[in-house]
This record gives sequence, structure tokens and C-alpha cells, in this order.
Amino acid sequence: MPPPRTDPQRKLKDYKTEVHNDWCPGCGDFGILSALQQALFELELPPHEVTVVSGVGCSSKTPHFVRTYGFHTLHGRGLPVATGLRLANHRQTVVAVGGDGDGYGIGAAHFIAAGRRNLDFTYIVFNNAVYGLTKGQSSPTLKKGLQTKSMADRSIAEGLNPIALAISAGFTFVAASYSLNVRHMKEIFKQAVRHPGSAMVDVYQTCPSYNDIHTKEWFAGKDRGDAARLYDVNERGYDPLVADPADDAEKARKKAAGIAKSFEASDDGWPMGIFYRAVEPTFEEFLAERMPDLKERPLVACDNAGRDIASLVDEMR
Ligand code: SF4
Repeated sequence: MPPPRTDPQRKLKDYKTEVHNDWCPGCGDFGILSALQQALFELELPPHEVTVVSGVGCSSKTPHFVRTYGFHTLHGRGLPVATGLRLANHRQTVVAVGGDGDGYGIGAAHFIAAGRRNLDFTYIVFNNAVYGLTKGQSSPTLKKGLQTKSMADRSIAEGLNPIALAISAGFTFVAASYSLNVRHMKEIFKQAVRHPGSAMVDVYQTCPSYNDIHTKEWFAGKDRGDAARLYDVNERGYDPLVADPADDAEKARKKAAGIAKSFEASDDGWPMGIFYRAVEPTFEEFLAERMPDLKERPLVACDNAGRDIASLVDEMR
């Protein structure tokens, strides 16, 4: 039996807003939103201790629909804002959200930089392989040669592998899920939020308006006798703790990125689950060693007048 809730008065509806939602009917975003609200509720995180940050795109409207603090920023710029939030107040649980175009295209540099720092926050990418808000142009995750109904021609560039990229960049929790499997997403989101360090969850998201290739029916394998394409790598025995005790962090990352590559999504199979999990020092711990008052309170509550940060800046150069 689960333990009694610390605040029995708090309900799931306390994480929902009344803001009008204009996502298209059947959009996979609805499932991701629901899983996020359920995860925050089940983690018993008080709404005022959570901030949801986004960039720009259909999915980046999410902060309007979650009753926590929220910040709808600029295209591709959700992660720098999430970084600033964590540095200013490391007591806040920060969840950044956005689309694949926002995160892996426009904001790619910030994505890589965020992984390198290992700040303790969660990043959920709604990956539908198109820029939905601007009528369905191909995004960085669409495979070469594919052409959705919204594209004038076939995609001429290779689609990137977000899992291998995130592991290589330094994210210490890397997972994938599916927008129409709320239960799976919710459990992955809970683990991502609990993880001490940068967590990235790439969610395959159906976009019925513009992506007519990766549809609900396609994922379910309707074109091949209901042989579903999605499979859970952890259920098949894959252990995300790939690090050998003898491995250093760099070696473990290289190994995990190589494995993620071998799990490449294809017409035959589409992998989800947790690909990588490693415990490494967080950026917040690095700072607290140098500014011990951060162990007692967040930076916004410290007396920062006259604080000498020259040596810290020198060390970070
Ligand atoms: Fe969802 Fe696609 Fe519509 Fe955007 S365009 S709301 S991603 S279905």
C-alpha cells in the first residue's frame, strides 16, 4: 500500500488550470500534459515549489496549463532560463518543456551546454519530427528521405538521435517514452524529476495535423498485422546503469551513447525506456562547495552584497 499523502487535501486538479487549450484534437501533447500533472501530484510536489519553463511551439504552451510557476520564453531559450532559475533558487523543482525543433534545432547549443553542466532539472522534449506551430516543416529528428503531407519535398538531412546526443552532451538521466502511453510517461517523468542531475526525456509525440507518417496507427503497427513498433528496452533486459565500476564518467558515457545508437528508431522497431542513468556531481554541488551559504539557503535568499565571486569566475574560465 502506498504511504499516506503528506497533504491529503491536495488533489490532482490542483495541478490543472482553466486556461483554454487550443491544441488540435487528438494531439499527443494532451497525453504528455496529463502525465506531467500526474507525476507532479504523485511526487507530492507543492505547486508553488515547481516551475515549468518552455521555449516556443505547440508544446511550449504547456506552462499555461499546469498550475505551478511558469515561464513561456523565446524560441529555443527555455534551457538558459531553466538554468538561471536553478542557480537563483535551487529549492525550486524545474521542469523545462518544448518541442524537438525548439530543443534540437533552434536551441541545440543550449541543449548541449545544459547537459555539460549537470544542473539538477528535467527537460521533456515533445518530439513529433515537425515544427507544428508553423505548419509542419521538417524538424531535426525527421529521418532523411521522409516526406510528410505538409512538406513540399523529401527531407534532405539525416535525422539526429536525441538519446545519443543527450548522453554525449552529459545529461545523466536519459530516457524516451510515447505520448499515448500516459502510464509509462508518468513513471519515467517521476524518475527524471527525482534524479539528482540533468534529466532528459524524449517523448515520441503524435501530430495528427502534420505528421501523417508517425501516426498512432503506425506506432501500433496497424500496417503490419498489429505488430507494435514500440518496445521497452528495460523490459527486454537492458540496464541503464551501463557503467562498469572501473569506468570513469567519460568512458561510461561513450559506452551508453554507442548503445543508444544501436537502439536507433526505425520502421522495424521504436525503442523507449531509460537508456542511461549515472550519479555524478551536480553543478549546484560544485557551487555550494565554493559558496557554503548555499547549503543553508538558495542564492536569492543569501546576503550577496559584497560577495567576491572573482575566484569562482576564474575557476570556471
Ligand atoms: Fe499538436 Fe501538431 Fe496540432 Fe501542434 S499542429 S497542436 S503538435 S497536432
